Amino acid sequence: MKYTSALLAVVLATVANAFQAHQPVSRTNNNALFATRQMPAYNDGTDYAVTHKDIDNILRQNKAYVEAMGQDFFDDLGSKHKPKYMWIGCADARAPANELMGEKPGSVFVIRNVANMVVATDVSLIGALQFAVNVLGVQHIIVCGHYDCGGVRASMGNKDVGDPLEMWLKNARDVYRVHQQELDSIADPEKRHQRFVELNAIEQCVNLFKTGIIQKKRAETYNQPGQPFPIPHVHACVFNPKDGILRNLNVDFSEYLEDLKGIYELYAPEAEAEKVPVAAVAEKSEHEVYPPEKRTRLETIKKFLGM
Ligand SMILES: [Zn+2]
Repeated sequence: MKYTSALLAVVLATVANAFQAHQPVSRTNNNALFATRQMPAYNDGTDYAVTHKDIDNILRQNKAYVEAMGQDFFDDLGSKHKPKYMWIGCADARAPANELMGEKPGSVFVIRNVANMVVATDVSLIGALQFAVNVLGVQHIIVCGHYDCGGVRASMGNKDVGDPLEMWLKNARDVYRVHQQELDSIADPEKRHQRFVELNAIEQCVNLFKTGIIQKKRAETYNQPGQPFPIPHVHACVFNPKDGILRNLNVDFSEYLEDLKGIYELYAPEAEAEKVPVAAVAEKSEHEVYPPEKRTRLETIKKFLGM
């Protein structure tokens, strides 16, 4: 009898808990939960009260910034959104786009992620790219890697950093695989890391060229009157946190595109001009496509790149 009562109590408690778990949390309860819960100290021992001081400090600094810039600046800033540049950078706290470029707010459309990756299935970045290219009309896209990059370092090690970060870093590991011969030949680990950072920035630019968004816009603007180069122009850069220098890697992407066009080409300048599918242009001989100048395909790609 005693055992039966205890069993009944357990069953009732379980049913009650299950019922409670399926009840919607009311706004009142939710607020009460946050209002009464004691905030724990941070793992590093930081007191929660100190973080309040940090937020207050940020607001004070913002006030000083607003006063320093002046109302005229904000009248202008609030009147339009027409950035000239798109920046794809690392989330690293030491690589802020505007400051590195010496540009004021309003001229750089920024998206950042771990190790400055351009991944075709990353709807956040690809969506931002679509908006930047098709709506904002950015003229330049800068993919900027940086030395001492934690994401790049992690992707060089044979250690599982845990998903989802490990899933993300697989994209960087793929870059290492493509350039393994060159990277493995660099004996100095730090120099190997730096070269990997550079090659990763270059490969992410190549990933941009693989997208229909970039190809279509560049094909449309290839022969546009008054347009000095097809837009957007893509640049691979690196930044060194130790000296602050932003360096253009000056990559000639034409050879990359020549190798990739058979697989990735979706829009070509000549197809856009003739309003025919890319496949139809591909079937023509080079002489048919470029009779006047007798340009080679590589020369056309160089022009396509604005070189
Ligand atoms: Zn980084």
